Amino acid sequence: LEYFGKYFSGTRQELITAVKKSLGRSRFEHVLRVEKAAIKLAELNDVSIEKASIAALTHDYSKERSDSEFKETIKKYSLDPDLLNWGNFIWHGVVGAKIVSNELKITDPEILNAIARHTVGAPEMTKLDQIIYVADFVEDGRDFPDAQIARSLAYADLKAAVSFETKHTLQYLMSSNKTIYPTAILTYNAWVAGQ
Ligand code: GDP
Ligand code: FE
Ligand code: FE
Ligand code: FE
Repeated sequence: LEYFGKYFSGTRQELITAVKKSLGRSRFEHVLRVEKAAIKLAELNDVSIEKASIAALTHDYSKERSDSEFKETIKKYSLDPDLLNWGNFIWHGVVGAKIVSNELKITDPEILNAIARHTVGAPEMTKLDQIIYVADFVEDGRDFPDAQIARSLAYADLKAAVSFETKHTLQYLMSSNKTIYPTAILTYNAWVAGQ
């Protein structure tokens, strides 16, 4: 897979080098596995392989930044001030998309939206959004009890995999008494709930 400067100014190898510099080894390896899953899902669902690769390689790009850097970024770009009440889990998607756009000069709105939505999803997700959301959950390193079920589902039916992941994540968050980000509930209502 080679890029031709359409969505990122350098080669895939150059993007990988930039991502590697920003992440510890195990998270970097996770990102490479997400890219592999995302490319496979893009092929199966008729989505741009190049966009899937770039979004996957950059989806956790900002995850190891400090809380203070995220808070500064929220203020500097006048992002929704409610974001300040949350933490890394939500910032590395929504605020992370802004950091990716600034530092890596990626401007394609579909790629940036897929990064922004990769953790909690959204009621309406493009096929690229769905691919990154699902690839993050089913990459080959995931070994939670239902990972194999999620993986088979992902390669058979992308939308069903979005639904499965959303339900699974909400169940996990509730069973451990974690705060649910409101958008995660909207995703659940749209992708899991019946009426
Ligand atoms: P990762 O970045 O590859 O580890 O995966 P994600 O970006 O999908 O998830 C990051 C973390 O956010 C995980 O530990 C999730 O369990 C957690 N998370 C996702 N949604 C919510 C939520 O609504 N509330 C809370 N408290 N945590 C969440
Ligand atoms: Fe993430
Ligand atoms: Fe995820
Ligand atoms: Fe991830």
